[in-house]
Amino acid sequence: MKANQPISFNRPDIIRPPSEWRSYFLPLTSGCSNNTCTFCGYYGSKLQIRDITDVKREIDAVALFIRSGIRVPNIPKVVYAVAQDWDGKRIFLQDGDALVYPFPRLREVLHYLNEKLHGLERIGTYATPQDILRRSVEELREFRQLKLGIFYTGLETGDDGLLQQIGKGVTSDEVIEAGKKVKEAGISFSVTVILGLGGIEESKKHVLGTSKVLTEINPDYVGALTLTLVPGTPLHEQCERNEFHPLSPFHSLEELKSIIENSSFSDCFFSSMHASNYLSVRGKLPHDKERMLKQLEKVLAAQDPALLRPEFLRGL
Ligand code: SF4
Repeated sequence: MKANQPISFNRPDIIRPPSEWRSYFLPLTSGCSNNTCTFCGYYGSKLQIRDITDVKREIDAVALFIRSGIRVPNIPKVVYAVAQDWDGKRIFLQDGDALVYPFPRLREVLHYLNEKLHGLERIGTYATPQDILRRSVEELREFRQLKLGIFYTGLETGDDGLLQQIGKGVTSDEVIEAGKKVKEAGISFSVTVILGLGGIEESKKHVLGTSKVLTEINPDYVGALTLTLVPGTPLHEQCERNEFHPLSPFHSLEELKSIIENSSFSDCFFSSMHASNYLSVRGKLPHDKERMLKQLEKVLAAQDPALLRPEFLRGL
């Protein structure tokens, strides 16, 4: 490679929250800036920031395709594969934490999206608490006005000891502060927690800490995932060395039930619809609390594996 030649951007695979399935996926970054979480497939990933000219070229290509069906050369095939089924309403910014994209450039991209894609209703992104805390409420409000309407943030656990063990790089207080900032800016806040993250030994602490922090944040959405050990990650290695003891599927459902029981929300859509879960439970809290708990109690009482998603159908 010649000196000063720009390194080409490695377009990331599409990893997105379940609720963004209808979105167009626009990569601004590749990897994650906080690549230290011991359970995560982004562990050790190298963050790449995509050149804004390249981002705008893709937006132009999508806008032209939506308007007139014309495909321009030298645009990755995946752009058109996604754009052909897209309804023009939502965009999801990739990758692991696209909010790390430098502020003036992210603002410029948002302006450009609004200018070129007129039917756009909402833009969403993954955001680490660290990314959120770096921005002021005024900056977040500016994003909101440009239709950046939802942040998806991994709390994973509310227990501080566990947060430290998994290399999350933040405390529960910092996640709470980040959540409050997002809500103050009028942006919807969606939080994920991971069932089984503390293994058998830390299960109780995990459930209690998580319920406490969820109650404090009072997010608009909570998505429960179930821990899936990813080969190559430190947690997988710990498990291989018998230092981490994963939960059984039914134990993970007990955690789910306890989190629903012990948290309190004013108006939250809570779900375990993600493909990693053994059982899909969903509803508005507090309204559907009793129904959701009854559903879980029934399955827990039966202890019948046939009621659970089979292991081979679980996904990340
Ligand atoms: S869990 Fe989130 S913050 Fe941690 S490495 Fe994965 S994508 Fe990055």
